[in-house]
Order: sequence, then structure tokens, then C-alpha cells
Amino acid sequence: MAAKKKKIKASGRFGSGYGTNVRSKLNKIELLQRKKQVCPHCSKLGVKRESSGIWNCKKCGKRFASGAYYLKH
Ligand SMILES: [Zn+2]
Repeated sequence: MAAKKKKIKASGRFGSGYGTNVRSKLNKIELLQRKKQVCPHCSKLGVKRESSGIWNCKKCGKRFASGAYYLKH
């Protein structure tokens, strides 16, 4: 029997204790976290998360607070 491929991506590190539903939600959030996001000040794609709730735009150089895990729109 072939081994089952795991479809858990970044949340795999949490093991099985959290359930698939929780982990698939986490995957979405983590994806957003790592991607560059649209800046609310210059509306260009250049915002990266610096730390929890702190965002930094490379395009206009602004640093601002928003959601801990993704930008609030
Ligand atoms: Zn900007």
C-alpha cells in the first residue's frame, strides 16, 4: 500500500492534535503572513509583516500597526 501524502503544508509542525479544520484555517493565515500585502497608504504591493501587528511598507517606507496576522482592510 502506498503511503498517504500529507496535505498539511506549514501547519504540519503542529502534529495531529489540532484537527484538520483548524490546520487548514491556519494554512490560509500563514500564507497571508508570508506574502507581501497591499499597502493602505500607497496601495502598492510592498507590505511585509515585521512582527506581530507591525507592518512595514517597502514602497513608501511607512511602518504601521494592523492585524497581528494579516492586514485589516
Ligand atoms: Zn506603502
